[in-house]
This record gives sequence, C-alpha cells and structure tokens, in this order.
Amino acid sequence: MAEPRTETLAPPQVAPRARVQAMKEYHPPLGYRDLLRLDFNENTLACSPKVCEVLASISAGALTRYPEREPVEAIVAAHLGPSSVEQVALTNGVDEAIHVLFETFLEEGDELLLPVPTYTMYEVYASATDARIVAVQADDDLQFPFERLLAAITPRTKIIAIANPNSPSGSVATRAQLVEIANRAPHAVVLVDEAYFHFHGETVIDLIGIVPNLIVARTFSKAYGLAGLRIGLLAGPVELMRWVRRVLSPYSVNSLALACLPAALDDTAYLNWYVSEVLAARLDFEAALDKAGVRRWPSRANFILVDIGPQHAEFVRLMRASGVLVRDRSSDPGCDGRVRITIGTREQMSQAIPALSKAVAVLNITNSKGQAK
Ligand code: PMP
Repeated sequence: MAEPRTETLAPPQVAPRARVQAMKEYHPPLGYRDLLRLDFNENTLACSPKVCEVLASISAGALTRYPEREPVEAIVAAHLGPSSVEQVALTNGVDEAIHVLFETFLEEGDELLLPVPTYTMYEVYASATDARIVAVQADDDLQFPFERLLAAITPRTKIIAIANPNSPSGSVATRAQLVEIANRAPHAVVLVDEAYFHFHGETVIDLIGIVPNLIVARTFSKAYGLAGLRIGLLAGPVELMRWVRRVLSPYSVNSLALACLPAALDDTAYLNWYVSEVLAARLDFEAALDKAGVRRWPSRANFILVDIGPQHAEFVRLMRASGVLVRDRSSDPGCDGRVRITIGTREQMSQAIPALSKAVAVLNITNSKGQAK
C-alpha cells in the first residue's frame, strides 16, 4: 500500500471562465427533510404504484445497458397529442432542458427576457452564458407583467422564459398573452415552462409547430411524483429541436427514468386523483390563511405564496419546529417577507394548518385581511 502523502499540496493555478467566477452560489435547502415537505413543490406523497411495479421489475442486467430514449420519446410524443417524435426531447429534469436551451441559443449580445420573480434556475443558467438578463418586475399583485414584458422586447431578445403557472407567485399568463408575445418576438424563442400544468389545466403545447418560435417544457417532478428520477422534456418545432439535440447529451436521462415513464403516463387515474386532492387541499388551506389573517396571492399551482413580513425567517423556523418545511422566498425580487408553502394532500394540510395557526399566534402576524388584490 502506498504511504499517505504528508507534504502540503499546491493549490490549483487554473481559473474558471470569468462568467463562472461572477456567478452567484445557489444552494437550495435540500437535506434533513424527513418532515412534511411543503418546501419544494414536489408531489408530497408518492408516485403511481404502477411506477413502483416497474422499478421492482428492473433486472441487474438491464442496468448494464446505456439508456435508450427514442422509443420512450415516441410514447411521450403520442401521449402529448399532435406532436411527432422529432418535436420532443426528454431531459434530465426541466433543469437540464433550461440549461441546454440556453446553451443552444444564448450568445454575447443576446438578451434573456425574464418576468420576475420566477424560477431561480433560469438566472443561474443564463448567468453562465454571455447573454444579458433583462428582468421585468411584476407589480405587488405579482400578476404576469404582460404589457411591461412586451415593451421590453428588443431586436436583441433571444429567449423569453415564462413559467406558467409561475413560481413562487402561482400567477398565470393567458394563452392569448403567450401567443401575442411569441408574435411580437419572432426572432426569439419563447419558452413556456409548464412544470405546474396539471394544477392549472391550461396549456399551449397544442401550438407547437403552429407558433414557430414556441417551446414548451414539462416536468415529471411535480404532479407525477418523480422528482428523484429526474425527468422532464422540451417540445418544440422540429427546426428548433434539431439544434437543441446537438447540445443535449444522448445519455442524460437514465434508464430507470425511461423505464418508469410509460407507466407514469398510463396511470391517469392516479394523476387525476393526486391533482384533485391538491386542489381540494388548496381550498382548505386558503380558508385557513384567510382565517389567520395572512395575506396570500391567488395561485393556480400546488403552492401558495404568503406574506409573513419581517419575521419570515422566524416563521420558517417555527413551522419546522412543528414538523412542517416551508420555503422562505424573501430574497426573490419583490418578495421581501414572503414565504412559499407547497400544497399536499388534505390530510397533510390538516397537519400544516395547526402549525400555521401556532406560528401566526406566536409571532402575532396580522398583516392583511386575506387574499392580496
Ligand atoms: N420549472 C419550474 C417553474 C419549477 O418550479 C421547477 C422545480 N422547482 C422546475 C422547472 C424544475 O423541474 P425539474 O425537477 O424537472 O428539473
């Protein structure tokens, strides 16, 4: 056996790209989450039991093979409706989809238009490119800043990224607004990220190939309950997807995720059950927030943003002490004092409601009379 090295090692003399040095660190609070997980907008319960059956049937031999994505992409394309297989690319979660899309299209001199507050990873991935981020701030009502976004389109706009429903606000853009934006920026890709589609029920995925610059992202991390498998997709016109595919790794979606996806898609009964459970629980929780006098923003997703005010960090700590994880969004643009609470099942939210009431009473929070206008 070799002797352990004892001399002082020299530090590396190599530096990353200037862009990378300028990037902010982003460490979402993952870890120690064996409590009620109302912090990451995941499915809070389980995936379909049909998916578990598939997982249990995977042989050791099957793991020796590289993943084969094309047959599964064909199944997904058929499931999504009119899309052909060339219009769909499976990705390692929507995060990889965003990363690859930005790497494919954004270069020096380009602008990424971003209504904010929104999903953090758009900024993370854009800041690693040579493009400039143009943030379009929502008003205090956190509604989609449609007019302001239109006014911010320039000849340099290359991608417009819109989460619909948006996180952390839960607000939505209408189909007419999205089409108008795409029409007004024909030189840009309009990414509509439908991560929370199932809780909203409205989509523009049927416009793929009809609106020539529209690309839609979907994840299996939310309603489907497969966040740990890391699987998402991009759907777009063939002419744009062929460039995306040049950048996308053919190996990035693992074979367990590919094996499970058809079963997840097939089990619509489970999906519908989970979504209806969340929608019912959201109503219960809205009523509890109103009763407690906590200001909230209307949401079309599986979470609600609430206004806690200056004691936001203490609120998050108190909720954790009661066994409930929630997410402080105070550092998001225009979100000072705001906390995002994922909606789980009715049973789970009936645990969260007493925790909420207790925290509100301890901190003496009375910041509004219910829903934000
Ligand atoms: N888009 C939005 C709007 C999200 O909120 C999230 C997850 N927080 C994602 C994408 C990431 O999805 P995935 O787990 O598929 O990477």
